[in-house]
Amino acid sequence: MNIKALKGFKDILPTEVGSWQRVERVARDLFHRYGFAEIRVPVLESTSLFKRSIGETTDIVEKEMYTFTDKNGDSVTLRPEGTAAVLRAFVEHSLHLLQPIQRLYTIGPMFRHERPQKGRLRQFHQLSVEVLGSEEPMVDAELMAMAWQLLTELGVNVSLEINSLGCPECRPNYNQALRDFIDARAEKLCDDCNRRRQTNPLRVLDCKNPNCQEQYQGVPLLPDFLCGGCRDHFGEVCRLLDLLAIPYKKNAFMVRGLDYYTRTTFELITRDLGAQSAVGAGGRYDGLVAQLGGPKLPGIGFAVGMERLTLLLEQLNGPQADSGSDLFIVALGEAARNRAFLLTQEGRRNGLAVLMDPAGRSMKAQMKQADKFQARYVLIMGEEELAKGIAILRDMASKAQEELALGDELGKELAVRINK
Ligand code: ATP
Ligand code: MG
Repeated sequence: MNIKALKGFKDILPTEVGSWQRVERVARDLFHRYGFAEIRVPVLESTSLFKRSIGETTDIVEKEMYTFTDKNGDSVTLRPEGTAAVLRAFVEHSLHLLQPIQRLYTIGPMFRHERPQKGRLRQFHQLSVEVLGSEEPMVDAELMAMAWQLLTELGVNVSLEINSLGCPECRPNYNQALRDFIDARAEKLCDDCNRRRQTNPLRVLDCKNPNCQEQYQGVPLLPDFLCGGCRDHFGEVCRLLDLLAIPYKKNAFMVRGLDYYTRTTFELITRDLGAQSAVGAGGRYDGLVAQLGGPKLPGIGFAVGMERLTLLLEQLNGPQADSGSDLFIVALGEAARNRAFLLTQEGRRNGLAVLMDPAGRSMKAQMKQADKFQARYVLIMGEEELAKGIAILRDMASKAQEELALGDELGKELAVRINK
């Protein structure tokens, strides 16, 4: 039987995992500098968590969730995004009591039953970031600055688009104006738009159908409907981004697919991945913590898709393998092999990545292995060297060689030479 991975589920192989490791390393380091702590939450949650937070009429809840009934008869769902699960944990453990502002991040797989394409999988991975407990515009600006810095430090070229979706006070007015506008054109719109007209009018602006797009020329725009509070908030967010010299574009058509967003929303857009143009996205969700049964605390977050990010890195740098070893010890003869076996352990204790051939093949075969493991250095210990009390260290890049004494300190000495 020839069993393969499921459609839309992908193995990340050692030959390509280097870009993933780099993204995680850079992200963890950066998030730490911005005061974020890591939280790890389960991938399986009650279905009601996602229905209640993401919204019943969103694409995710309507058609993309992996939902099943477990053995107790409860409906459970593989998380389609990170925010709901992190907020569930935040509320469950009363994390707001620890600090007035909580900055949290999580890294891991998400699941959505969509049509797989390049940059779109059914199991994909996100870096997901939340700030809970402040509605200050400075938090919005800081969060976008962090997203921007992440992509800049990775050398990826994206543009930042921002919008404000208003609040429960002003959004209903806009929804009404939008509905009136769409109703007048109903026959000319696609089925999706007609459905959304009833359930979630904001989403029609997302429609990719060129016919619909044409109909939406002259559509009322959200920024014109913001209440004073939302307008001031958005103005201040923009001012602070200007202050930090972070380039952005206002996009009044950007609505985001999740129900919980309020005020600031943003997307990180690339031109280099065809139709899958969003590398990351986020926004403010001031009502969500309370909606999940927690205290009345505002929040804002974003998620970056790691598949799309690593695709961009591979376009720039080619696939990156997991890092090779520092040192391969080539040993010939019983005595040398024993000595080498001890030395591999000593090298590892001193911080080096060390390998040797367990089978004791010919010199040529061992050198070949050293190559395959991409060893930066090879230490050669034949019977002749052993008799002289030395080993030969070869730098594989420059081919330079030197003789080292086979003393008790050799492991340490190798570490010093190789790490310099
Ligand atoms: P899209 O419009 O591309 O479907 P989205 O609005 O559904 O994106 P979000 O829910 O905001 O995406 O998730 C944030 C990021 O996660 C996206 O910008 C993208 O990089 C990534 N992402 C979302 N869905 C997938 C998927 N199925 N496969 C790979 N990455 C994804
Ligand atoms: Mg989507």
